[in-house]
Amino acid sequence: MAIAKAIKEALGGGSMIRKMFEEGARLKKLYGEDNVFDFSIGNPDLDPPKAFHDVLVKLATEDKKGMHGYMPNMGYADVRDILAKKVSREHNVDIDGSHLVMSVGAAGALNTVFKAIVNPGDEVIVSRPYFMEYRPYVSNFGGVLVEVDSTGDFNLNLESIANALTEKTAAVLINSPHNPTGRIYPKETIKALSELLSRHGKKCGRKPYLVADEPYREIVYGGKEVPAILCTYDNSLVVTSYSKSLSLPGERIGYTAVSPAMEDKADMLSALAFATRILGFVNAPALMQRIVAELTEAAVDVDIYARRRDAFKSVLDAAGIHYTEPEGAFYLFCRVPPSKQGKSGDAAFVNHLKDHLILGVPGSGFGTPGWLRFAYCVDESIISNSGDAFKKAMESW
Ligand code: PLP
Repeated sequence: MAIAKAIKEALGGGSMIRKMFEEGARLKKLYGEDNVFDFSIGNPDLDPPKAFHDVLVKLATEDKKGMHGYMPNMGYADVRDILAKKVSREHNVDIDGSHLVMSVGAAGALNTVFKAIVNPGDEVIVSRPYFMEYRPYVSNFGGVLVEVDSTGDFNLNLESIANALTEKTAAVLINSPHNPTGRIYPKETIKALSELLSRHGKKCGRKPYLVADEPYREIVYGGKEVPAILCTYDNSLVVTSYSKSLSLPGERIGYTAVSPAMEDKADMLSALAFATRILGFVNAPALMQRIVAELTEAAVDVDIYARRRDAFKSVLDAAGIHYTEPEGAFYLFCRVPPSKQGKSGDAAFVNHLKDHLILGVPGSGFGTPGWLRFAYCVDESIISNSGDAFKKAMESW
């Protein structure tokens, strides 16, 4: 007996984020929690808003029949109707709940979308750097993730995307606000991408889907707007979750929303419902669906993340490490600094930082060597206390 070859290979590679996370746990045992500066994982440390606990307690004590039973695979109809109002505002469309399929987080949603649209050998285009789990999410269904370069400032590079489009292209996958750069793609870029995909569809007879992964939509700085997707491109799907906006990653709740103008909308919605069923989720968690429907206006306090970002930027500035300015999400994507000792590479720099008890994730894990990512969803004191360690690390790099 042996485990499947593809899984064995994937296990060999492992996730760099997970590896650093585990390394962090080991170092904390050895040196104490406060002495390790662990910026490896995007696991929000902020508690969910108080309203979450209030609704949780209210629903837990409610004696309503059928609260814990099976339901339609798409999720509760009344919950989807409520959420559709918010999606309509965000994406400048007028949809009801029939356009939404509740999911087991954004990860669950992405898997149902790729199950629904990817034939073996089909391609999904993604811009480097990208959230590293995308590759297995696509290969789960026999698809191939095709990486293209972004622009120098980490915007979508439409020329690279145009060159990668073929008749095998099932979708272009975008993520904004972006993990790991914090970039928000401008409205004009989304519009130009939509036009590009439409032109490609006309030319080759297969119009790619645009899949927008948006779990960080609520975490933006300085009032920045995240452009609407569903009104901009007819073959678009938006995937999101409450993992970051309400700090609920362990509760596994999110949804997929389908553009009202999609050509084969009814088929798509049936496919997403079917995929939810046969991937073994059956439906998204019942209690969490009810809770998020009551929290459409709630979100974690983004000002806290803004303060952490600023504190981290000061630490990096003092250490002489350059980063790209995040417009949203809670990551700083940094260039590996030149070494006075002739060292090079993101893995070497990450290892060097680890010797100083600082944990980040090499950019290679996101398809972008020469960079590294720090997650600042940690207490502000950890960020400010890391200043000396960063300075020391830089002196010997
Ligand atoms: N997409 C991106 C860009 C992410 O950063 C993450 C998690 O960090 C996910 C999807 C998965 O989110 P969820 O926990 O809601 O499945």
